[in-house]
Amino acid sequence: MMQGARIERVELRRPDLRSPFPRAFADRLRGQTVTLLTRRGKYLLAILSSGETLVMHLGMSGDFRIDHLAGVSRISAEPGRHDHVAFEMSTLATITFNDPRRFGSMDLLSSADFMAHPVLGSLGPEPLSDEFDALALARACRGKRTSLKVALMDQRVVAGLGNIYVSEALHRARLSPRRRASTTATRSGAPRDSARRLASSIKAVLREAVARHEAYAARPQRRSRFRVYDREGENCLRKNCRGRIKRITQAARSTFYCPVCQR
Ligand SMILES: [Zn+2]
Repeated sequence: MMQGARIERVELRRPDLRSPFPRAFADRLRGQTVTLLTRRGKYLLAILSSGETLVMHLGMSGDFRIDHLAGVSRISAEPGRHDHVAFEMSTLATITFNDPRRFGSMDLLSSADFMAHPVLGSLGPEPLSDEFDALALARACRGKRTSLKVALMDQRVVAGLGNIYVSEALHRARLSPRRRASTTATRSGAPRDSARRLASSIKAVLREAVARHEAYAARPQRRSRFRVYDREGENCLRKNCRGRIKRITQAARSTFYCPVCQR
């Protein structure tokens, strides 16, 4: 929708979101082509032909709406109350950023700024990308004395994996959340079998979640249950396992796991 398109005009309807828009924001965006649209963790990134990157964070309530309106003045004369930014694209689409609570943010960074950014410069790979595999996981976990659960919640190890899917992936990989993260790697950082199981389990649970989400959107039904998440005290669903799901707290977040089959 945005990738490959040129930004023809940007309208800012207020001076700030969570923080002020960068200096000359609309002027720096006008005429730029979006060469790549990608995501890092909770950030949406549009890499521009100028070499700058438009970094967008949706905050708590932010959302983009896309309208296809042909005509001279495509940006609505009467915007919605929380429509704060509108991008008029060369594809005749208008992309509007709506954010009632205004916790979202937009920034324009040069590639040097990007690497120096406290979050973006050190974000780990996206779990479903090719960059993320057993080797990447083992290298990130090498020498880490924290638990595997805490390591997987660290955005520098893998980006944007939430609390639910960390529990789900660890159960699928038959690995205890309490196991030390460093045990997935050899001393030189090569992946052990546990790293291979874990990397493929992370990808599998996320792909299943996407498929389930799509199925649910097509035909609403009772959502299928998680393997361990929110199932404290219930029987483990693994075939032939007689364990019961346990809930523990790690780094102030709930972890659900089966103490029998997860080692
Ligand atoms: Zn079990």
